[in-house]
Amino acid sequence: MKRFKRKIKSVLISISGILPFSLLQRLASKNPVIINYHSIKGWDPDPIINRNTYRSVKQLEDDLRFFKKHFSIVSIADLHHKNKLAQNSLAFTIDDGLKSVYDLMYPVFNMVGIPAAIFINPDFADNKDIHFLRKRNLILKSINSIDEIANTELQGWLSKKEISIKQLISLLEQISYEDRYILDVLILILRLQNNLINENNPVYMTKAELEIMLKDGFLIGAHSMDHPPFKELTLSEQVKQIKDSIEWVIKQFQLPYRYFAFPSNDNIISREVFESIKEEVDLTLGVQGLLSDEYTTHFHRIEVESTGKSASQVLKYEYCRYIIKKLVGKSIFKRAND
Ligand SMILES: [Zn+2]
Repeated sequence: MKRFKRKIKSVLISISGILPFSLLQRLASKNPVIINYHSIKGWDPDPIINRNTYRSVKQLEDDLRFFKKHFSIVSIADLHHKNKLAQNSLAFTIDDGLKSVYDLMYPVFNMVGIPAAIFINPDFADNKDIHFLRKRNLILKSINSIDEIANTELQGWLSKKEISIKQLISLLEQISYEDRYILDVLILILRLQNNLINENNPVYMTKAELEIMLKDGFLIGAHSMDHPPFKELTLSEQVKQIKDSIEWVIKQFQLPYRYFAFPSNDNIISREVFESIKEEVDLTLGVQGLLSDEYTTHFHRIEVESTGKSASQVLKYEYCRYIIKKLVGKSIFKRAND
C-alpha cells in the first residue's frame, strides 16, 4: 500500500510539474489556501533539528513574492469572522514560536507587507524551558564528551538502573513524552544545565518580541503547552493541552480571539476532542494540505517548506492531489471517534 501511494505521489509530481500553475489553480478552485512555516535554513542551534528542510531568507522572500502575485493575502481572522473572501485568498501561519521567526522571518514578512499568525507553546515563551526532544538531542550530542566528574556520576546512575550506556542511548533515541523526566535527571547528572538555554543564542521568542509583532498586525495563537506528540496523550490530556495553552495566550496578550494550531499531525485528533473544545476556541488548524474538514472551524494548511521544492511546485502538486480527492469524493477530511 505504501509503495502504491509513493508511486501515485511520483506520478502526481510529474503531471503537476508540466501543467501551468494558473490552470491548476483554476481547476482546483480552493479558497482559501493556508501556508505554514516554522523556521529558517541553517539557523537552528540543535544540529539534528537543523537538518530539517526550511527556506533560506532569500527563498522565503521569493515564496512570499510568489504568493503575493498569485493570491489575495488575507488573515486567519478573516476565516474566523467568516468575511467574504476574494477569489484565490491565502493566509500565512508560523508554528513553534522559534527565535528565528522574530530575527529572520518577521523582517521578510514585513518587507513584503504580509502579516502572519504565530502559534506558540507557553512553556517555552521567554526560554523558560525547551522541547523535550531538544533536551534529548543535547544529551546524545554531549554524552561522549563529558568531564570525569559527570562521567563517574553517570556510571553510578547506570549501574543503579542496571543498564549499559548502549541501552541508555537506544532508550533516548526512542524516548516517549511520558518518560521525558529522565531527560531532566540526565541533564543534571551530565551537568548540562548551562548548555540547555544559551542566553546568547536562545531557541524561542520572548513575550516582548511577540508583543512587538502583535502591534505590527501579526496574530498570536496557541500550539499546546509544551508541544507533546498528541498521539501519545489520552483524550483528556489532549483537551487540557489545548485549553490551558489557549487560556495562557489570551490572558498574556489580552487577545479578543482564541486560535489553536495542533502540534504535529492532526489526523489522529478524534471527534471527541473537537466536541470537548468547541466552546473554548474560535478556530483551529491542521496540516492536511488543501483538504477541508468535517469540522468547519478547523482549517488545513500546506507545510510548504517541508520538501525543499519551490512554492509553485508544492502548490501545483497540492492542487493536483486536491482535484483528484474532489473527483473521488474525498476532499473533506473525516475524523474517527475516540
Ligand atoms: Zn509545531
